[in-house]
Amino acid sequence: MDETNDNINPESEELKEGQEIEHEEAKIYEYFEAEIEQNKPNFTKTLTNLYELTKIDRELAEIDEEKGDLPFRIESLKERIAVIEKHLEEDKTKLKNFETEEKALLKENKGLEDKTGKYDESKYKAKSNKEYDEITKQIDAMLEAIQKNEARIKELKGYQENLVKGILEMSRNFDELKNELKEDISHLNSLNKQFEEEEVELTEKRKVILDSLDEDLMSLYERINGSMKGEATAIVRKGNCSGCYNSVPPQREIEIRMAENIFTCQSCGRILIDETLISNL
Ligand SMILES: [Zn+2]
Repeated sequence: MDETNDNINPESEELKEGQEIEHEEAKIYEYFEAEIEQNKPNFTKTLTNLYELTKIDRELAEIDEEKGDLPFRIESLKERIAVIEKHLEEDKTKLKNFETEEKALLKENKGLEDKTGKYDESKYKAKSNKEYDEITKQIDAMLEAIQKNEARIKELKGYQENLVKGILEMSRNFDELKNELKEDISHLNSLNKQFEEEEVELTEKRKVILDSLDEDLMSLYERINGSMKGEATAIVRKGNCSGCYNSVPPQREIEIRMAENIFTCQSCGRILIDETLISNL
């Protein structure tokens, strides 16, 4: 016991509330600290909590970075695939309609050809010039229709050829993107699996700390963390904010060290913590 008491040095060691008490030395110091806190508000504990929270969020941000743009890529691949799928469907329908039209025209021409053959024969059996001319006229009209249909068939063949080329190209693209998507999803899944435990653990720790903060401070922290993930707090070191390297006025620096209030950096908006408050963490 005596030996432990000799080692007490309040200047170099701070014990935070809730921290595990392992030996006599720490217990006694906690008692001293509690007495000091009775007089003035002290946010040391809150600030160190915020510092711990920042560390957790930094780790979560690193995990996000590991996953990189995979989640975004997956979304954009899905969108591109959906667009191609829609075009493919549309073009396949067009192709089918052209094929149906072509078939109908071919059938019509076959009928017209048969008919012209018959008319041609009957032409010679005509009883008058007038009848002969009439038949010839009808044959000409049928031949004209056949020609018109043939022109349309040729046109349709051109369309179909282009559509088939386009469909092949799109199908290839579609398959490639599908494979890419499959690979990205499986990559992301394996990363998720790899980080799952870590993320769960960090998220739980995060919740415990957040729950210990009052609501205003929690929303302040979350707001800053939203735009600067894992960077919501900054250390004041040698008169500078470690987040943006702008200088902190000397008087403010002292106030930050006293931890009787919570201050944010006037330049970058991060919550400022004096380095002495976290030097023992
Ligand atoms: Zn700053």
